[in-house]
Amino acid sequence: MHLSDRRRRRHSIAPISLALALLVIAALAAGGLVTFRSGRPPSLEVEPSLPAIGKHTVFKVFASEPRRGLTGLRVELVQGALTKTLVERTYLPLPPWMLFTAPPSGSEVLDVAVGRDVVPQLKSGEATLRVTALGAGTWLLRAPASEQVKTMPVRLTPPSLELKSQFVYVAQGGSEAVVYRVGGTSVKDGVRAGEYWFPGYALPGGGEGDRFAFFAVPYDLADASEVRLVATDDVGNEAAMPFIAQFTPRPFANDTIEVTDRFMEAVVPRIMASAPELEDKGSLLENYLQINGALRRKNSEVLTALAEKSKPAFLWHSVFQRMAAKRVSAFADRRTYVYGGKEVDRQDHLGFDLASTQQANIPAANSGVVALAGYLGIYGNTVVIDHGYGLMTLYGHMSSIAVKEGEEVARGQVIGQTGATGLALGDHLHFSVLLHGLPVTPLEWWDDHWIADRIALKLGAALGYEAL
Ligand SMILES: [Zn+2]
Repeated sequence: MHLSDRRRRRHSIAPISLALALLVIAALAAGGLVTFRSGRPPSLEVEPSLPAIGKHTVFKVFASEPRRGLTGLRVELVQGALTKTLVERTYLPLPPWMLFTAPPSGSEVLDVAVGRDVVPQLKSGEATLRVTALGAGTWLLRAPASEQVKTMPVRLTPPSLELKSQFVYVAQGGSEAVVYRVGGTSVKDGVRAGEYWFPGYALPGGGEGDRFAFFAVPYDLADASEVRLVATDDVGNEAAMPFIAQFTPRPFANDTIEVTDRFMEAVVPRIMASAPELEDKGSLLENYLQINGALRRKNSEVLTALAEKSKPAFLWHSVFQRMAAKRVSAFADRRTYVYGGKEVDRQDHLGFDLASTQQANIPAANSGVVALAGYLGIYGNTVVIDHGYGLMTLYGHMSSIAVKEGEEVARGQVIGQTGATGLALGDHLHFSVLLHGLPVTPLEWWDDHWIADRIALKLGAALGYEAL
């Protein structure tokens, strides 16, 4: 035998036995995995820690098992002989031989409503919330489980809520103040009007639990029967009462606006250039509709977010000042936009348009702190002044701005000049009064008697109103 032959044979036999050995090892490993590679007990958390279960109590359940995933999650409420299953979920875990893949059912986050709203049989006394999460087992090993148990009293009494203001008269699109008293268990109170929420505040100088809220009946809510004073406790028990003594519907004035190429050519490219979030839709009209619709909504969200930082203080003490100018357009005009004889859009105009000379000085309507000074979409160069407790004024289309964010301004102080920036053709001021971001009619806030009767009388010394 040649040396080369022997070498060749060694070369041909060795790979076969090696492959066989590897196969046996692999088979053993696979068998071992299938038999013994169960998941771990899932990590399980239930939040928040609440002192009780109430009418509408919501818990958050976090469960995770990153090895083979969850196979089940169950939430039960137990009171005496009653066991009510609130959530029952099953999941497909990862097969045990898949070693380097994350399981698709690796984690779950659930909001679970637990209160009497979902379990009407719930009575006062104690109840137990039991949450069980299951991991993955094998044919030999049981599925590992985790359990969280919380036993709490059931508390179904809402906070006490007592109306202190009389003569709450409000008009559609108009504002009001209301003073009330809440019990010690209240954690959130205010006025709910349709989709809007107007938060309450501690009444300065008031007694324990004395609160007040500025609120409005939104310009597009023609029925005030759903406006409620509300107080809620930490476990979702809510007291809600109607409190409006008199409501005046104030329907929209309708207005038709002819959209011309000349107008669009003047405003659209300018706004597109300063709003990089807008995409070019290809035509002047499409771009214009995008500005009038999507950008308008986005701007309104900015104003609502701004209101959340409003100072809890009365930064004003006398009537709001109106710029001396001609009124071009009033509050809550429902505008129909017509282009080439066809209706192309419909929007609500929610401020006053005031036109004077070009680049006229704009006075601050009242004392406050500048909350925004800069470019704001359809409003162009804009100043927003915070007057406290969610009450703000907005000045749009300015040619120049003379104040900075955070600066205190006095009533009547010049904050800049009128212009035609943003969605405007001629030089004018767009003026809005905002209550927690919702535009309300400025007419009331310009009216000394209205403030004295509707606001100052209710708030008393807390506001310290000086009639002019
Ligand atoms: Zn306007």
